[in-house]
Amino acid sequence: MATSPKDTRGHDARAESGLPRERLVVVGNGMASLRFLERLTEIAPGRYDITCIGAEPTVAYNRVLLSSLLGGEVDEAACAFRGLDWYADHGIRLITGAPATRIDRENGYVRVGETHVLPFDRLVLAVGSLPIRLPKPGMDLPGVITFRDLADVAAIRKAAVQHARAIVIGGGLLGLEAAVGLARLGVETTLLHVMDRLMERQLDHHAAALVKRAMEARGVRVILKADTARLEGDGRVERLVLADGTALPADLVVMSVGVRPSVALAQAAGLAVGRGITVDDRMTTSDPRIFALGECAEHRGQIYGLVEPAYEHAETLARHLAGEPAEYRGTALSTSLKVSGLPVFSAGIVDTPDDAEAIVLSDPGAGLYRKLLVRDGKLIGAVFVGDIAEQGACKGLIRSGDPIENVDDLMFGRPVPEPLAA
Ligand SMILES: Cc1cc2nc3c(=O)[nH]c(=O)nc-3n(C[C@H](O)[C@H](O)[C@H](O)COP(=O)(O)OP(=O)(O)OC[C@H]3O[C@@H](n4cnc5c(N)ncnc54)[C@H](O)[C@@H]3O)c2cc1C
Repeated sequence: MATSPKDTRGHDARAESGLPRERLVVVGNGMASLRFLERLTEIAPGRYDITCIGAEPTVAYNRVLLSSLLGGEVDEAACAFRGLDWYADHGIRLITGAPATRIDRENGYVRVGETHVLPFDRLVLAVGSLPIRLPKPGMDLPGVITFRDLADVAAIRKAAVQHARAIVIGGGLLGLEAAVGLARLGVETTLLHVMDRLMERQLDHHAAALVKRAMEARGVRVILKADTARLEGDGRVERLVLADGTALPADLVVMSVGVRPSVALAQAAGLAVGRGITVDDRMTTSDPRIFALGECAEHRGQIYGLVEPAYEHAETLARHLAGEPAEYRGTALSTSLKVSGLPVFSAGIVDTPDDAEAIVLSDPGAGLYRKLLVRDGKLIGAVFVGDIAEQGACKGLIRSGDPIENVDDLMFGRPVPEPLAA
């Protein structure tokens, strides 16, 4: 993309006046951080003197592919986005394997590890989330592993030897993916979910039942309404005990019960924090020199756990710091995934509200389910299992709030025009 004249002028004006470039420090080198750096160096190359600090020992990688990495479908190299040379070529100083430990707002610096200090004029926090561990006895036993980063995947794969017995706690998207990955490795896998259906935030009962069946067909035992009471073992996890007293043997427990935005650094620095680091429509925190984006940010009371909003944050902030007008208004979320090869899509409202009409097509034998929720002629929700071809159209209609022109097109797809006779 070409450099906008405005950005170049801004950069040149500063350089021409003999002023040093502003120092921009980015804390976190995950997916939001990298997308932000890519866009900023594209729109406003050379405008900032950039340093990026990442706690993980590697460059940013595609976290979404961790499930495939766990199941052995891809290797670590396939998860990488950019090599070290990309950072160097774009004038970005990258420090890996070193967490930022303190922000000193008064003196304008970030402390890295115990000793290093990085002064900043502007600071971006892209520190993501931390996986939650259930506050139950035995959760810290060796063999109980979260599922968030490359180190977790390495630990799970090490423990997941053939014929090992694994329990995954959590029937959300990540729990399902972890369970399928483990089953693919030949591990005897049980998935526990405390609710009465899988992925209850994205799927209604019908869709969730189809997904459960697909999991079972892949060799995953699914137990719903499973309330974990404690983990037990002598020096290492050996069994999980449910609230009803059932004891399930386990050589490995994968904890996938959600994430919590990383706010500790911001909170200690006195920035406004709710569930995440509070930002306005320009991703600016309560300190005008400090910004936050991705899973650590809370915008209009909303925190997100998906890539799409993180990338929208990155785009907004890159434009803003390049001096272009940019505002983030929130992201209407949708979920599109494959559970063991079974395509699943959901967007908007999932359970039918009293004032809406549900249009349903269900063919359990074929593993097919489609539900559209319509209120006042407008689409407010959609759940598809098996065939998700119309997902783009549904997403667009839910976001725009435009009236539906033809429900059948959404339900059955647009008819393919007959080829003209020669
Ligand atoms: C297994 C898995 C599968 C997923 N699948 C999907 C999917 O299919 N679709 C989807 O939309 N989303 C998916 N997600 C979620 C998606 O990966 C996240 O939404 C996305 O990575 C968020 O980007 P982020 O940059 O905000 O956070 P992260 O990618 O977590 O990056 C934050 C980085 O900051 C670092 N950090 C934290 N504190 C510090 C510090 N003090 N100093 C320096 N560095 C620090 C962390 O180590 C981390 O590397 C998945 C996540 C996982 C774990």
